[in-house]
Amino acid sequence: MQIIDGKLVAKLTRENIARQVQALPQDKLGKIGLAVILVGDDPASKVYVRNKINGCAEVGIASTLEAMSADSTFEEVAAKIEQFNADPEISGILLQLPVPKHLDEAALLHLIDPSKDVDGCHYVQKGKLWTGEPELIPCTPYGVMKLLDHYSIPLEGKNAVVVGRSNLVGKPLAQLLLDRNATVTVCHSRTRDLGSITSRADIVCVAIGKAKFLKADMVKEGAVVIDVGMDRDENGKLCGDVDFAEVAPKCSYITPVPGGVGPMTVTMLLQNTVTAYKLSRGIE
Ligand code: NAP
Repeated sequence: MQIIDGKLVAKLTRENIARQVQALPQDKLGKIGLAVILVGDDPASKVYVRNKINGCAEVGIASTLEAMSADSTFEEVAAKIEQFNADPEISGILLQLPVPKHLDEAALLHLIDPSKDVDGCHYVQKGKLWTGEPELIPCTPYGVMKLLDHYSIPLEGKNAVVVGRSNLVGKPLAQLLLDRNATVTVCHSRTRDLGSITSRADIVCVAIGKAKFLKADMVKEGAVVIDVGMDRDENGKLCGDVDFAEVAPKCSYITPVPGGVGPMTVTMLLQNTVTAYKLSRGIE
């Protein structure tokens, strides 16, 4: 059994991103920059935003944090998005989710210029992904693919099961695996006899938000297990959707939590920002 070291892969990927940033041509339209919009003061969101801003600094991307009060109106947030859409020094725009309940999250996400949609949430980016021409890929599934590739885990013809069908993780991950010629099954909360499906899989990816949900009897010997979950166990300790202690001995590869998929998410946001900059300037 080999543990997939997300911290290591994130470090190597960030070094590569920093080299890409260094090599970007000086441009009269301005430097590469990421704008992060945070509405409200959710403590978890603040931590995520800080990691994104720090990640930018690490690889040489300028960043702007727009912290807006929790009672901001739709029009106020929309105006901020439009301002960043028009700013040539902003290559990527990220609206930190979730936004406060009174705001229409989907409507705000679709105001972001698709060419600056570094979270891959806009219909245009989703459509490109779905038609096999991915451009700005949602960061977490993109990170999962990077991890699989770093360890040269074969995907073609493999039986891959994705548990969870969220727009941000499960669905795009299923599509990315399909693009790589895996045979993909997507499971969700209404799936019957989930264990009989996961236990036939060569690759099991779990993204459901339920602590230690995937047990050893739901996994076949030698499977690759990717745990996207970020949950708290009964003692309040960070854990994933996979019961790591009992599942790991059966796996060929497994991601730990923390230190697996998590470090890749911000990393791929940085990559998407570079990709958006290159696309906007016609750089290959
Ligand atoms: P989400 O939007 O809440 O979606 C959860 C999905 O899991 C839904 O499709 C739901 O099915 C399914 N589900 C829930 N209970 C299930 C069960 N008992 N059996 C089978 N499927 C079940 O969650 P998300 O945003 O995709 O996030 C999932 C997890 O990943 C969370 O722990 C989150 O914190 C974590 N996450 C981590 C990162 C990272 O960087 N590591 C990034 C994003 C998310 P239905 O559709 O039928 O309701």
